[in-house]
Amino acid sequence: MLAVERVDAPPGPKTADLERAVGQRIEAVRRRGKFLLLPLAPPTPARAEARRRAVPRVPPDDHGRDELIIHLGMTGVLTPNPPSAHLRLRLRLDGPPPNVLHLQDARRFGRMLVVPHGDYRALPTLAAMGPEPLEAGFTAEVLAAALARSAQPIKAYLLSQRPVSGVGNIYADEALWRARVHPETPARALSRRRVRALHAAIREVLAAAVELQGTTLYDYRTVSGEVGSYRERLDAYGHAGEGCPRCGTAMVRIVVGQRGTHLCPRCQRRPAPARRGRRVSPNSTLR
Ligand SMILES: [Zn+2]
Repeated sequence: MLAVERVDAPPGPKTADLERAVGQRIEAVRRRGKFLLLPLAPPTPARAEARRRAVPRVPPDDHGRDELIIHLGMTGVLTPNPPSAHLRLRLRLDGPPPNVLHLQDARRFGRMLVVPHGDYRALPTLAAMGPEPLEAGFTAEVLAAALARSAQPIKAYLLSQRPVSGVGNIYADEALWRARVHPETPARALSRRRVRALHAAIREVLAAAVELQGTTLYDYRTVSGEVGSYRERLDAYGHAGEGCPRCGTAMVRIVVGQRGTHLCPRCQRRPAPARRGRRVSPNSTLR
């Protein structure tokens, strides 16, 4: 990386130590949940580089290295094209064009910071993150064991990323609707049958969303600038006041853990010791 230009991103925890990336090489682009992980390497002297090429199987030693971490938050977009508004950061990269990465972020929830490789103390969500939902290690048994550890409402616990990574507000509502689980059910109160249904629902919803390149409600764009089309598949999210696609009952919107939550009051029965969610107007959807 040749330069970090803070167009409208004052120094702070969301961009901590970003300048340390300057002069380093981005070795890979990985993903964990909704975080992008870019391991960095200091410039390699030519002779050491030649030796490394001669023995290509030796994995790089991460000790003492840095990692660039990016989370796009709700409205962040990384794009090679200069955005017309809300440009926060410009990263100038080595090599032929396109060699400038722009971080556009209307609501400023995005983060871009440098940490010592694998040291996620500044990122507690990443540090405690559960398994990847579409990998083989995420089984119904693994989910059941995680849910047994929490009395939080199931939706809030899913959003914490601890039982499984990558489930945000939209996909939590979709998966809970599919599995017929009320979002306020305490995580550890789910029956085995419901856990299995939820496990399958999470995988189905995320696999289909990946296939359709995500859900664009406002600012989300794919790398090539296109919108994701999963929005047309949403059964629950944003459909308060409309008929449940399964039973026809009017869907409602409540608030769980300060997040707008959409459900069918008939398919998703409230758990027995009633915890009241705040009911708001069915018209105030998509927030
Ligand atoms: Zn229903």
